[in-house]
Amino acid sequence: MDESLCIICGTVKKGTEEHIIPKSLGNESLKIYCVCKECNSGLGANVDSYLVNHMFTQIIRQSLGLKGQSGEVPNPFKKGYDREGNIVHVNGDFVPRTLPRLEQVGTKVRITAPSRELALTMLRKKLSRQGFSDVQIEQYIERENIIREENVHHPEIRYDMTVDLNKFYLSALKIAYEYGYHKLGKLFYNDETAQYIRMILFNASNGNFDYTYEKVRLLPSFMTHIIEKAQGVNCHMLFLHQDTANQLIVDVILFMTPVLSFSVCISNNALKYRIGNEFITEIVPIQ
Ligand SMILES: [Zn+2]
Repeated sequence: MDESLCIICGTVKKGTEEHIIPKSLGNESLKIYCVCKECNSGLGANVDSYLVNHMFTQIIRQSLGLKGQSGEVPNPFKKGYDREGNIVHVNGDFVPRTLPRLEQVGTKVRITAPSRELALTMLRKKLSRQGFSDVQIEQYIERENIIREENVHHPEIRYDMTVDLNKFYLSALKIAYEYGYHKLGKLFYNDETAQYIRMILFNASNGNFDYTYEKVRLLPSFMTHIIEKAQGVNCHMLFLHQDTANQLIVDVILFMTPVLSFSVCISNNALKYRIGNEFITEIVPIQ
């Protein structure tokens, strides 16, 4: 790849393959080659990651069997919490597993483990470390009858489903900006709004989230009604169009899912792009 202008940091550097919609969301086709290596990995780590790893997204990725960078299909239910706030791990077969714990309560030892066997193993280790012989340990276990079995097979598991919308918006902003450049080129690069978006993305790619952009929002409800009808269709969609206020808009619709659908203003001067009433549409198959 030749040296070219990086559309994130604005310096002339060697371009790398940048997926406009993150690769781990199944996008293999919509790519640009005008983002330098440093910005590319910075965007991946600081901008794409929240969206890609969020529980909403992971549930969809899991249902579609989409592998991430690690080559693994994510398990969104991996880490939950039980009533007491203890971490519960749930494996791919949805079998919850409480992390074994050993606590000293006064002179007693309390062991929380998913099975009697594991609890005993932990107790034996603990006693052995305190200098008890194997025979003494077995006698102790028999005499004290300390293991009280509880039903730990179906604990109520709670998940943290909070959404930091600003971080979702940032991911959408990146997609919209890169798509704008992909379709409109240099004219867009010099746009005042594009310059501001670029500054935000460059800072965010370096872990600085101080700057925000107001003109990203969830897709308006009349649009999401249409999307809901198309759920289950295996694609993402991008629309580039002009609104009645002379703004240039990119609608970013991921997995045809309303909560992952955004509307981003990428220019306040749409007229100069001469799009008219056209909807420039990109259908990105999920692979
Ligand atoms: Zn760069």
